[in-house]
Amino acid sequence: MKDKLKETTEKLILANKELAFQNEEKAKRAAELIIANIELAFQNEEKAKRAAELVVANKELAFHNEEKAKRAAELVIANKELAFQNEEKAKRAAELVIANKELAFQNEEKEKRTAELVVANKELLFQNEEKAKRAAELVIANKELAFQNEEKEKQALELVIANKELAFQNEESEIKSEELNITNEELASQNEEKEKRATELVITNKELEQFSYLISHDLREPLLTIRSFIGLILDEHSEEMNDEAKKYFQFVSDAAVRMDDLIKGLLDYSRLSAAKQLNDGIDCNEILKDLVADYNLLIIKTKAVITIEPLPIIKAFPLELKLLFGNLISNAIKFRKKEIVSEIHISYKKITAGWQFAVKDNGIGIGEKDKEKIFLIFQRLHKRKDYEGTGIGLAFCKKIAELHGGRIWVESILGESSHFYFTILTERL
Ligand code: ADP
Repeated sequence: MKDKLKETTEKLILANKELAFQNEEKAKRAAELIIANIELAFQNEEKAKRAAELVVANKELAFHNEEKAKRAAELVIANKELAFQNEEKAKRAAELVIANKELAFQNEEKEKRTAELVVANKELLFQNEEKAKRAAELVIANKELAFQNEEKEKQALELVIANKELAFQNEESEIKSEELNITNEELASQNEEKEKRATELVITNKELEQFSYLISHDLREPLLTIRSFIGLILDEHSEEMNDEAKKYFQFVSDAAVRMDDLIKGLLDYSRLSAAKQLNDGIDCNEILKDLVADYNLLIIKTKAVITIEPLPIIKAFPLELKLLFGNLISNAIKFRKKEIVSEIHISYKKITAGWQFAVKDNGIGIGEKDKEKIFLIFQRLHKRKDYEGTGIGLAFCKKIAELHGGRIWVESILGESSHFYFTILTERL
């Protein structure tokens, strides 16, 4: 029994625990239900609010629908109106098409007319321009005529004055021509006088040349006598003379030799103007070759260096030309500087109507003031003891250059060089 009770008690305890657990579950469920209720109540409130909003929205929509219905009715009316207007426009368009065609036709006509007018305008413009030109030309021609008329009037006036002037001058001229006649006669007689004088001068010149030739020729005669007798005295009587007398005789002998040289020079100089034959085809190279051969000993002795450019073939007096070149070359050697090698260069250039030759040296040179003087006869710049010579050489050269229609001059730096130039202008002789 006890066991049964115990068993029953245990069962009851278990049942109690079961109940207690179920109660707890129920309490939880009740709590959850309460929360769910609260939730539902909230949702219901929300739905009620939404329903109220929907009612308002429905009313709004109903209003909008009414408005749209009204607008649709209006649109129907407006459509009808538009359809009517479209019909009207179609009619108008058809009318416009016809009108356009009409206008197009008119335009074509107008274009044709315009083209015709353009042509006509151009024509008119051209005619107008022509007329304007013509008018301008006429204006100029008118001015010209007016000017010419004025000029003619002036000229007529001037002619009247000139006529009067001429009449006056004629009178003057007549007086003058009478005076001139007298003067002419005087001039004619003066001319005759001058011609006479010129002929006389030619004769005198010839006489002078002859005279100087004869004089110099005849002077050599007594001089020769002096020279030979002094030679004889010195040869045969020198023992009878003291030294001083011998010295004096030697001076006389030297002076006689020098005088003979001078007279010979003068003789040659006076012979220069005698009529000679101008020769064509004178080869200057040949002349120079001969001269170098002639001066060979002197060239070797002085160690002078002569360079000659190829020279031309010219028209000249051959002997005189050789003399000219010869004098310039021998002077270039003579007036060299002792301390340096003497260099002499001969060249030429073609000039209008002839040739210009140059003989250049590196010698003692000539001072500015003496450049003209040296070409005068017997003019020397140095003492005989320094440089031998008669002072005739360059006077010769001058006369020969002039004989060939040319001239001679020198360009020089004293102590440095002398460049002698001469021209031969025989092409125009
Ligand atoms: P010469 O030679 O007989 O003295 P020229 O008439 O030939 O006479 O020369 C006149 C002078 O001109 C010479 O005395 C000399 O003083 C000067 N002279 C001529 N040629 C030269 C030269 N090449 N260089 C310097 N002086 C010169």
